[in-house]
Amino acid sequence: MPISFEVRDTDLMGRLGLLRVGGLSVETPCLVPVVHPVVHDIPLSKYREMGFGAVMTNSFIAYRRRKEEALEKGLHNILGFDGVIMTDSGGYQVLRYGKLDITPMMIGEFQSAIGSDLAVTLDQPTGYSLSREYATETMKVSLNGARETIEKLRGSRTTWVGPIQGGLFPDIVARSSKSLLAAGFEMLALGSPVELMDNYRFAELVKMIVAAKKSIPFSMPLHLFGAGHPLTLPLSVALGCDTFDSASYILFAKQGRYMTERGTLVLEQMTYLPCSCPVCNATSKNDLILMDSSERMKRLALHNLYILRQDVLRCREAISEGRLWDLVEERATAHPRGWSAFEEMARNSELLVAGTRFMKERGLMVRSPLDEGRPELGLVRVHLAPLMKRRGRRAILVRVGAEKPLRTVASYQEASRKQKEDVADVYKLHPFLGPYPAELELVYPFSQTVTDHEAGQEDVRRAVTHLRAMGYETVLVVGDVGSGVRSRRRSRSRGPSPSARVP
Ligand SMILES: [Zn+2]
Repeated sequence: MPISFEVRDTDLMGRLGLLRVGGLSVETPCLVPVVHPVVHDIPLSKYREMGFGAVMTNSFIAYRRRKEEALEKGLHNILGFDGVIMTDSGGYQVLRYGKLDITPMMIGEFQSAIGSDLAVTLDQPTGYSLSREYATETMKVSLNGARETIEKLRGSRTTWVGPIQGGLFPDIVARSSKSLLAAGFEMLALGSPVELMDNYRFAELVKMIVAAKKSIPFSMPLHLFGAGHPLTLPLSVALGCDTFDSASYILFAKQGRYMTERGTLVLEQMTYLPCSCPVCNATSKNDLILMDSSERMKRLALHNLYILRQDVLRCREAISEGRLWDLVEERATAHPRGWSAFEEMARNSELLVAGTRFMKERGLMVRSPLDEGRPELGLVRVHLAPLMKRRGRRAILVRVGAEKPLRTVASYQEASRKQKEDVADVYKLHPFLGPYPAELELVYPFSQTVTDHEAGQEDVRRAVTHLRAMGYETVLVVGDVGSGVRSRRRSRSRGPSPSARVP
């Protein structure tokens, strides 16, 4: 069955998309809650009502426990869900319990026969293994199963999803991704992040996603297994993952854990329920503690689902507004390991440029040294370089924020005329981009950079060196020179006042 993925908007590597499979469609980024094929603590109609367009279930468990019924009625009917159903193949069971007495073709044919819309071929997850040999072996086993399944079942209505393995070894992840692409898969799923998440190794998660993304086309949809952790959802979206399955909402609920956007809390240790979802509006922390344990678990699971749903919507809005970087950074402050992951993402700024718009409607926030590596600034640097051309013999460098836009150019040139000097090329000084032609002042993001960093003496010195290297005979620096340190002091507005002349 054909799959289509329409990318409607992008920011960093993240995208707003519409994924169409099996005659159904779902908006992305999309959280795909994991539901048990037999036991439903929350009725499936509730997921639909909450806005989840897709769910994931385990075809291996369905094969073991509901095989005949599933074959007779079909997966959508036995689950009572008319949205997209994605099926996992049993790889997770392999990770937990070792080898299964099932082959990729057996589970592949079953997934197809019960009407799975998106089916992952049987894989052997690498997990958290530090052994290169084991990572290579699991990647090869998963790849062989994937190739066999797609070759023999390509014509079925099910869309096959290729499982990327390789775990902590980026080169093996890359090889896995490229091989699956060559085998004809049109959607891939990145395996093994669950143990990384459980151990808060978020920076490794970033490396793994980056390795996969560098090996596949930008437009290809990518699923991330087991990634429903509020600390990493915006990060994974920013790195270009489109769908995420997670059982975290129910697993945390079983442990009495209450999700917030900045991590989980133990219900018993809480005083309030800091949320306004329908569950939290209708009950109090004490009510929850006193109620029957299975009812408490269901309510906690529902609350957790609302939190995840809200987080996905927040990611979509951030892409739409072009401020996904800010959302990732804000979330990274919730945990030191989150910050390490953000640093790792920032190191891959060149990759993030792919989906970053050149013009944005909102100001560009630069509040930390890492923000100076934002892809928006990288994009501007590339476009600015060819515009830095000398037209005259003299340059005037105006400190950033010293004057109102445009008027600056005219007034400084008038000052030159009064001094009976040649009209000079006027540059302004951006605290992070350095000198730029003053005519660009209204172009994003020169005057739309929001920061409390003032260009200081060192910035001016570097800018003058730059302009002299362009061949200017004299460089006149005008306006106040800032302290060069972060400060909340507002800049004073001043008229043209040549303050330093560099011969
Ligand atoms: Zn709530």
